[in-house]
Amino acid sequence: MSLKNKNETNAIRTQLARSPFLEHSNPLYLTSSFVFEDAEDMRASFAEEKERNIYSRFSNPNNAELVEKMCKLEGAEAGHTFATGMGAIFSTFAALLNSGDRILSARAVFGSTHSLFTKVFPKWQIETSYFDASDIEHLEDLILPQTKILYIESPTNPGLQILDLAYLGKIAQKHNLIFIVDNCFATPYLQQPIKFGADLVIHSATKLIDGQGRVLGGITIGRADLIKEIYLFSRNSGPSLSPFNAWVLSKSLETLSVRVEKHCDNAEKLAEFLNNHPKVVDTRYPFLKNHPQYALAKKQMERGGNIIAFEVDGGVQGGRNFIDEIKMCSLTSNLGDTRTTITQPASTTHSKLSVEERQHVDIPDGLIRVSVGLEHIDDIIADIDQALSRYHV
Ligand SMILES: *Cc1c(COP(=O)(O)O)cnc(C)c1O
Repeated sequence: MSLKNKNETNAIRTQLARSPFLEHSNPLYLTSSFVFEDAEDMRASFAEEKERNIYSRFSNPNNAELVEKMCKLEGAEAGHTFATGMGAIFSTFAALLNSGDRILSARAVFGSTHSLFTKVFPKWQIETSYFDASDIEHLEDLILPQTKILYIESPTNPGLQILDLAYLGKIAQKHNLIFIVDNCFATPYLQQPIKFGADLVIHSATKLIDGQGRVLGGITIGRADLIKEIYLFSRNSGPSLSPFNAWVLSKSLETLSVRVEKHCDNAEKLAEFLNNHPKVVDTRYPFLKNHPQYALAKKQMERGGNIIAFEVDGGVQGGRNFIDEIKMCSLTSNLGDTRTTITQPASTTHSKLSVEERQHVDIPDGLIRVSVGLEHIDDIIADIDQALSRYHV
């Protein structure tokens, strides 16, 4: 597969101007500040009469290169980088919302994002309404005059539901909402929400963008007028991405296409294996034909991604017993790594939810989430297969 917009080339060939040393690989600009030619240059720079680097909390060449690449990959006008994915999410909301504004969000969002909505933003009288991914026909009933942002993730974590981006884009436009998509699970290589009407796209670059479990990072990209506000907020509040991490992430993007293709090859094979395994109750993967939104997934994604969720017998304890039999795969909550990682949401990331709340967001107690890595698929399947046959319900 090759994307029409030549994503592979942009991810590799987008590069800063060379320094006088004519390096081939990009240099790392570890500097906290930048010098001025003279007093007039200093004045004009601070007056923002010219675009140039002043201080690395504001901008840095390595961060600029990462932003430029991500803008090309997502088809965005502008962007800004952050120390973490949560830094990007918090700063984006904080920059765009005023006290009294409301957020309309899908119920199934990343745990820390959910905590911002329920514990942090209410301190500033910013409240959130929720809708179920399976019930977007009634979404418009939830839009109030104060609603300013429509927020989703697709595929969702860990239920792997697919939300209809084109439909949501139309609703957002009709009601003048800012439509924001956390595109972390798909990456721009598999899904470009801006094409479907998203105003902003957010990534935890910690996941598949880095792809090797080394650095944390976040980025928001999209409409230039909104990015300007987000940039000014961050420049003053300081959640900046370190140039070193920006350099790592820009390098990581050079291999995004080959990594994601292989992640998807492996995930398709594992999903097929699990789907046919007698001890697996249910397997969820967007590109499995029995996924309830298979047709929609095909419409808006190039391939199904690298995350699979499957349910084993025995509820929370059954899931724990299964995990205790795993030998090779890593037991860690990070995802998008070269190494296959396994978690049980009900006993980890979603353990603070009540049983009813977990049912509401469609997380059965025996659900296992696998982030399929780049090891040989036979080894991944063999590890999961032996754990399935050995674990006791
Ligand atoms: C990990 C993650 C985040 C948060 O990113 P950090 O880099 O850990 O701050 C946000 N959204 C999704 C979907 C994630 O998986």
